[in-house]
Amino acid sequence: MEAMTPALFLDRDGILNVRIVDDYVRSPDQLVPVFDLVPLLALAKHRNWPLVIISNQQGVGKGLMTTMDLDLVNEALCAAFETKGIRFDRIECCTDLATASSRRRKPQPGMLLDAAAALNISLPSSWFIGDSLSDAQAGRAAGCRTILVGEFDSIHADVVVPDLGCIPTSIFDV
Ligand SMILES: [Mg+2]
Repeated sequence: MEAMTPALFLDRDGILNVRIVDDYVRSPDQLVPVFDLVPLLALAKHRNWPLVIISNQQGVGKGLMTTMDLDLVNEALCAAFETKGIRFDRIECCTDLATASSRRRKPQPGMLLDAAAALNISLPSSWFIGDSLSDAQAGRAAGCRTILVGEFDSIHADVVVPDLGCIPTSIFDV
């Protein structure tokens, strides 16, 4: 069996693209990619760390969009980042409603656990970058290290930074 690898887990909305407040990115024309993390993602790639998107998308569960719509948005996101030389290794989306008891919907850790099993990821040496408390909660529940971007108290994550450009490259130090 191959050695386990660290990974960089990434929330999508608010981290890789502009979040639409109180709504969902329902179609590619509503997608505004954010490339602030490209240098950090390139460093991860250079170290052969998989890049894994971890995203709640209950707009599907609500019937506001279809899984096809979601796939098209994700394809557009991947295409945008490929123009910057960044390829994502896996995308995990949970379309369950917040009201459903879902093992995958953040703050539950199921999406991280499933990706870790599929890609042989070492969770304790991985990081999850998000912009919601539920991201840090899911990351901690999965046993990985957490970064919150935004105005958060430092108790909520291992690293709290005011914006995407402030994430320290020391996260790659083992
Ligand atoms: Mg988010």
